Amino acid sequence: MGQLIPLTPAELDELSDQFAWALSTRETPVIVPGEAILGIEAIAAGVAARGRTILNIVTGPYGEQFGDWLSRGGSHVVELRTPYDDVVAVAAVAEAIERHHPCAVAFVQAEAVTGGSNPTQALLDLARQNNLITIVDAVSAIGAEPVLMDEWAMDFVAVGAQKALSGSNGISAVGISARGWEFLSRNASAPRHSALSLLDLKRASGEAEPVPANIPVLEARAVIKAFHQIQTEGIASVNHRHQLAAASTLAGIKSLGLKAWQRQESACSPLVTTVRLRQGEPIIRQSRGILAPGDGELYGKLLRVNHFGSQASLKSVEKAIGTLAGLLNAAQPEVAIHAVRKVWLASNDS
Ligand SMILES: *Cc1c(COP(=O)(O)O)cnc(C)c1O
Repeated sequence: MGQLIPLTPAELDELSDQFAWALSTRETPVIVPGEAILGIEAIAAGVAARGRTILNIVTGPYGEQFGDWLSRGGSHVVELRTPYDDVVAVAAVAEAIERHHPCAVAFVQAEAVTGGSNPTQALLDLARQNNLITIVDAVSAIGAEPVLMDEWAMDFVAVGAQKALSGSNGISAVGISARGWEFLSRNASAPRHSALSLLDLKRASGEAEPVPANIPVLEARAVIKAFHQIQTEGIASVNHRHQLAAASTLAGIKSLGLKAWQRQESACSPLVTTVRLRQGEPIIRQSRGILAPGDGELYGKLLRVNHFGSQASLKSVEKAIGTLAGLLNAAQPEVAIHAVRKVWLASNDS
């Protein structure tokens, strides 16, 4: 067995630069020594406090969990919930801000479980007009759609490499603005000397600083490698590939007489396409390739087509639509495959 070579400060700097690049930020992201959900819980723990009213938008299960963590930290949580087949309306958020005067707003940019993407830029504009701290779970968005931390003025944004970036899930990052750091350090009940402490995870700068002992070495190297591939392809191309996968999947399901689970087609996420099931339509119990049953309460109501990462490809989408056609006993599966191909190839030429 080979000897494990410790991570060098240069490698950690590279990883940090890569996450900053993906977030289009000049800030130095916090490297979180675990999967993305740890960074999300750390944000909740760091911002929550008695006396702080936080507007939490719930469009899927991750948002619901986030609200529980905010409450645990003593915050007054105002929940704005949509049915899981819809995304949030900006007007509803404006109304909630006017009524409850929160100091911060939290939401999930793209929902992997429901296949919806929230109107992120508009929500962030609204938050900025009201001088609110913004907290965004962009784990499923990063790579599939733009996440422009500085331009859009995100204060806290959690990301991981394991969805659209085809990376590993063992290390992740939280981008934090100067305002965000101030909001954390002003919070006397933010955890310190804890795995949930962003203030402690913040890496001291300076060349002489050693690599913190909590960084998982192999995961760090795997994510650095995944980023090399993404940087070679270009983030805009990676986004485009996900858009094509979603558009061609939608064409395929429509050709099979099905429709999207999301009520508004414009809200369909480029990461995952969710397919609405009516009674009597096939329910798979286990994943078949990138075709998967609904999670939890969505089981039996929808199917997911997980066309993300390396699966955001024409081949993978064709295969998924072929599988679906088979499950439906479609008379002419090739018609649906043709519909997929037509959308993918037409957009690629333009
Ligand atoms: C996948 C996902 C997460 C959790 O990421 P893990 O690294 O698997 O913990 C959080 N939020 C959203 C929206 C996700 O899709």
